[in-house]
Amino acid sequence: FYTMGIETSCDDSSVAILKNDREVLCNLISSQIDIHKIFGGVVPEIASRKHLEAINPLIEKALMDTGLSYDDIDLISVTKGPGLIGSLLVGISAAKALSLSTNTPMIGTNHMQGHICANYLSNKKLKPPFISLVVSGGHTYLVRVDDYTDYEIIGQTRDDAAGESYDKVARAIGLGYPGGPKIDKLSKEGDKEAIDFPRVMLEKDSYDFSFSGLKTSVLNYLNQKSQKNEEINKADVAASFQEAVVDVLVAKSMRLLDETGLKTLAVSGGVAANSRLKERLKEECDKRDIRFYNPDIILCTDNAAMIAMAGYLNYKAGERSDSYLKVYPNLGL
Ligand code: ATP
Ligand code: FE
Repeated sequence: FYTMGIETSCDDSSVAILKNDREVLCNLISSQIDIHKIFGGVVPEIASRKHLEAINPLIEKALMDTGLSYDDIDLISVTKGPGLIGSLLVGISAAKALSLSTNTPMIGTNHMQGHICANYLSNKKLKPPFISLVVSGGHTYLVRVDDYTDYEIIGQTRDDAAGESYDKVARAIGLGYPGGPKIDKLSKEGDKEAIDFPRVMLEKDSYDFSFSGLKTSVLNYLNQKSQKNEEINKADVAASFQEAVVDVLVAKSMRLLDETGLKTLAVSGGVAANSRLKERLKEECDKRDIRFYNPDIILCTDNAAMIAMAGYLNYKAGERSDSYLKVYPNLGL
């Protein structure tokens, strides 16, 4: 059984082919970062145009690389949301054209479910139930995964997403877009205890997150320093900011694991590539005898393999989409 995944929700065009359950035959990703970084962030109109140029060649290349033909594909799984409307429309239109012309079933897939499912691809032994910490550019979720298609959101951000705060702080200290990997790297040269940025935990029993206050206090710190003409140690700012984000993510995840008694944690999304977050989660899980899973780095950020994986699971559970499939820019999990 071959599933083709198509992902165009933001600034990466990606096409993947999955064999049966969890076996990635190819996962092609065409990044647009070089263009968007000129503008310091993703420009939606440019993103749609780039997807349009990339998508058909990627589909052809995926078939060529795997030696498969259009007839071999049993299912097309395409991201229907959340994401940029123009970008999503390119993927959906390509999937519809392919589905209609080759008479192949198609399924619209939730991008955030895709991020969670990335873990199945890197960790063949992972199976529900488990707690999933999803930390991406636009979302921060603590999710209870009860079954392959059964998710309950326990907590989410009330303002900025974790990845978004990395990107904004990176911009403020002049590191450029996307900021996550750059802060990760620079932090290794800094002192994480140099500056005491706030850890916003919200109400005592809440599993929600809030990262905009942290971002503001980093900005205030930078302003104060420059007003006083004092030198800013960027590595210290990066490391101290990162530690504040990681502290909150780790604390809430551990509290939820303790409360539910579940013995497995899987982290995913772009920020799951963060070396300090992985290190701290692993440490805390080991203390509690909890299994800790994270995806390979390439499967943390946007890719079509995770979309194929999620679509495959939904299809096996009986879900189908028809040719009226729409895009859902604000889709929740
Ligand atoms: P969403 O999935 O919520 O719609 P998205 O698809 O834009 O958003 P992802 O591709 O999952 O987000 O992740 C991109 C985010 O991950 C960016 O904010 C980026 O800065 C962050 N990121 C990537 N690598 C790292 C890293 N090593 N450390 C911290 N953050 C990182
Ligand atoms: Fe994403």
